[in-house]
Amino acid sequence: MENNKPEWLRKAEEEQAKFSETKFGKMTDGEIAQCNALENHKEQYPELHEQYREKALDAGWRNPEVQSPLGVKGGTKTASYRLESGYFQSEKWKQSQSKGGKTSGDNNVKSGHFDNIRKDAIKASHAHVTCPKCGNTGSVRNIKPIHFDNCIYPKMLEIISNYIKPEEELSIVKLSKDIAKDLNISSIGRVQTALKRNFLEPGVKPSRYQKWKLKQS
Ligand SMILES: [Zn+2]
Repeated sequence: MENNKPEWLRKAEEEQAKFSETKFGKMTDGEIAQCNALENHKEQYPELHEQYREKALDAGWRNPEVQSPLGVKGGTKTASYRLESGYFQSEKWKQSQSKGGKTSGDNNVKSGHFDNIRKDAIKASHAHVTCPKCGNTGSVRNIKPIHFDNCIYPKMLEIISNYIKPEEELSIVKLSKDIAKDLNISSIGRVQTALKRNFLEPGVKPSRYQKWKLKQS
């Protein structure tokens, strides 16, 4: 029976197995969504990203004031030295911390930095992302809740390939109910939509109710 599986189904199983082994297959949904959104955002606003990059460079390794003390002191050595010397308990440290916090906080508000971050976050939530598990594309807000880690495609693929014979024609309502129950999903409609989109096509045998069968191609 295995050998009678339609070509697309065998391929889909293979691809799914391969995907699980990749680093993307092991990423959390949050990580994937972030990558996707960032890529989208970069594509949509290339100048903005160039600006960010330039700003970061100016504030970081292009800035001699920042670089020279860093170079002299060295990151972790400085930290352990400061810890041993009690520097972190000193007034100087406390002052530098509170001053830094206030100044940058103030600057962030005045410069509109916070406002920009907020706008970017809204834009990013509208950016389109692609679920790596099923290839569906949509806005982060819409697609996040039912794709990525919550995507039912891999599990459905498993069920479909194990339980439906290639020539079998069956009730999509019953099948959706069974799968929903199996996967502990409350929405039967969601399962039915996914079945029609990815796995099934209308049956051809005469029947009182519309039956469905595995897609042949
Ligand atoms: Zn998906």
